[in-house]
Amino acid sequence: VSLMMLTLALMLMMSACSNGNGSGGSEGKEGKVGIAMPTKSSERWVNDGNNMVKEFEALGYGTDLQYAEDVVENQVSQIENMITKGVKALVIASIDGEALTDVLQKAHDAGVKVIAYDRLIKKSEYVDYYATFDNFKVGVLQGSYIEEKLGLKEGKGPFNIELFGGSPDDNNAYFFFDGAMSILKPYIDSGKLVVRSKQTTMEQVATLRWDGATAQSRMDNLLSANYASDNLDAVLSPYDGISIGILSSLKGVGYGSGDKKLPVVTGQDAELASVKSILAGEQTQTVFKDTRELAKKAVQMTESVLKGTEAEVNDTTTYDNGVKIVPSYLLEPVSVDASNVDKVLVEGGYYTKDQLGQ
Ligand code: BGC
Repeated sequence: VSLMMLTLALMLMMSACSNGNGSGGSEGKEGKVGIAMPTKSSERWVNDGNNMVKEFEALGYGTDLQYAEDVVENQVSQIENMITKGVKALVIASIDGEALTDVLQKAHDAGVKVIAYDRLIKKSEYVDYYATFDNFKVGVLQGSYIEEKLGLKEGKGPFNIELFGGSPDDNNAYFFFDGAMSILKPYIDSGKLVVRSKQTTMEQVATLRWDGATAQSRMDNLLSANYASDNLDAVLSPYDGISIGILSSLKGVGYGSGDKKLPVVTGQDAELASVKSILAGEQTQTVFKDTRELAKKAVQMTESVLKGTEAEVNDTTTYDNGVKIVPSYLLEPVSVDASNVDKVLVEGGYYTKDQLGQ
């Protein structure tokens, strides 16, 4: 009987702690920090959240980690709840960077500090710091990879390319696209790269909420309208989830079998499915951003604002959110393809050989 009661008590405790979307959270002797992440549908955010919980707990903070499944209103109400429950600081990776103005006013009124995580929060004075990667460089790495793989510098071409952008409500998407276009546009202008769809502006190529299925159906349309009799040589993709959608579409019309070679397809985040796809010779490249390092940075920034000291930053000019330039720390992204998966991701301890099926 006592064992049964113990099990029952344990089950009750567990269900009280979990609310389906996140980890309800421990108190912590240093107080509690709210962590608002966009979605669990992409691995990277799951890792980011878990890494921060670990780091905060090691410093004595309690955490309330919530995921909003890419619904802006969910994220706003999750943040409101955190403020009501008395968090001392918020670390937020926003879904829509322009939708948090009112809730951050509430945070400020309650004396809650705010760190923008990976994505800039716009239109608010109440963003203390921003921890991210060099987002322009992410795009440069993708564009340069295409340039190198196609031999554009050596004068090869012309080649056919199509372009994909990220979510138009995410400030990062513009940095990625602009970075990539800083490399690709001169070749498009000179005719060495041909975009048969003629869709070359961020407005035309954006993918709402970074959705792979949306990208897949756009790729289906691009292929049937422009490549019935001509091959596609490269696709600029800003994110692994989008790359996977693009690849399914390409494979659906016969790329990757017989002598119809798959185009060069870029990506971002080194998600497990994409790294496996790279090893299988499908996706060509990804950009690795070490979420462990980003989590550490964001936790250090939070600790600094809470202790009233200055956080370490390395950029005070780039990230203008419309109201202020948010002091930022930019980490370095790394280009990964089949040639350096082992060195960067396995030796770096991000994945085990087992996870990669090696
Ligand atoms: C992040 C990327 C990610 C994308 C989709 C961006 O804000 O910087 O790492 O691929 O969102 O989740």
